[in-house]
Amino acid sequence: MGLIVQKFGGSSVANAERVNHVAEIITNTYKAGNQVVVVLSAQGDTTDDLIEKANEINPKASKREMDMLLSTGEQISVALMAMAIGRMGFPVVSLTGWQVGMETSSHYGNARIKKVSGTRIQEELDRNKIVLVCGFQGVNKYDDVTTLGRGGSDTTAVALAVALKADLCQIYTDVDGVYTADPRVIKNARKLDEITHDEMLELATLGAKVLHNRSVEMAKTYNMNLEVLSSFTGKPGTIVKEDAKLEKTHVSGVACDKNIARIALVGLQDKPGIAYRIFSMLAKEKINVDIILQSIGRGNTKDISFTVEKDNLAEAARILEEKKHLIGFDHMNTTDTISKVSIVGAGMANNSGVAALMFEALYEANINIHMISTSEIKVSVLIDEEDSEKAMQVVHDKFFNIMQ
Ligand code: ASP
Ligand code: MG
Repeated sequence: MGLIVQKFGGSSVANAERVNHVAEIITNTYKAGNQVVVVLSAQGDTTDDLIEKANEINPKASKREMDMLLSTGEQISVALMAMAIGRMGFPVVSLTGWQVGMETSSHYGNARIKKVSGTRIQEELDRNKIVLVCGFQGVNKYDDVTTLGRGGSDTTAVALAVALKADLCQIYTDVDGVYTADPRVIKNARKLDEITHDEMLELATLGAKVLHNRSVEMAKTYNMNLEVLSSFTGKPGTIVKEDAKLEKTHVSGVACDKNIARIALVGLQDKPGIAYRIFSMLAKEKINVDIILQSIGRGNTKDISFTVEKDNLAEAARILEEKKHLIGFDHMNTTDTISKVSIVGAGMANNSGVAALMFEALYEANINIHMISTSEIKVSVLIDEEDSEKAMQVVHDKFFNIMQ
């Protein structure tokens, strides 16, 4: 018995039947003697449909009005769920982000949670109610509605769990946990029982779509355990926690990110300050740079290559071209037909040879590596996009098949 925060994603509440099914899960948790706070996403594709509706009317609509529109999806979900639970005879109340005091930055479309008051929720819990809260939305200092970025309901759930000092935060979705690789791509991927916050954060950032990465960041900061599980199967899911038991392979997952592009600046002067100039110009325009590689100098020149998100390629290239006279390079090459395959594992830090095994798998499959980057718990390689699936499969096989 305790206080449990449960979050249900869009597919879990997509229609009346799913809503009724989730109402069973919620009320069973309540009947077991727990206090229950539930965060819901918009039903099915509602958020995408709302974006489309906006585009029909004004493709350049202001971000403020977009948030006003997009936040309605979650409000539909909580109201319908309250009706389903009410019909079953349980005390329940639905609340918006504003009503629960979800204070955010003013950044429409991608607001950050600053503070959660939680008083209203506490009052409702004290009245023995099941409390349903709109995910994804908050309110800024102008009293305007904001949203937390796509997939942001996970972050709402973790923020509430932290604010209310919940005993557990369960993230219900349509897959039964976190896998060693995307099970839609890698057929023999398997579910992990446990994973550390750090590993999950890397995987979420690397494009595994299970959890919003800011939700994991917050869970890590406040040491909140998460359970990722399916609302469809009722099977135990994956626990995300600080000291998860490590995989025998030292690797927990393989991820692939196709949303990247590479820029190479060739023939830069080999002198101090060049890298600073390039990357500060990009940072000023809020362009995130990922892997960076600098060649050793030949004569008086060197090359620097780096990756950016695909969407930022055109802008980054434009900025560099415009500032060519300040940076001083011979020419620039860009490509967006590349992808990044990564292995993640907390056990890597203390074990040599993990990276070599990954390179061996790629070599055996005759896949060429363009760039490499490593951190304590991650090795990433840049390869041709057309090799992505094959690379994921051979790397996954190298670490996971041999152990079974
Ligand atoms: N409904 C929002 C979205 O589709 C938030 C969420 O589902 O977490 O991105
Ligand atoms: Mg999601």
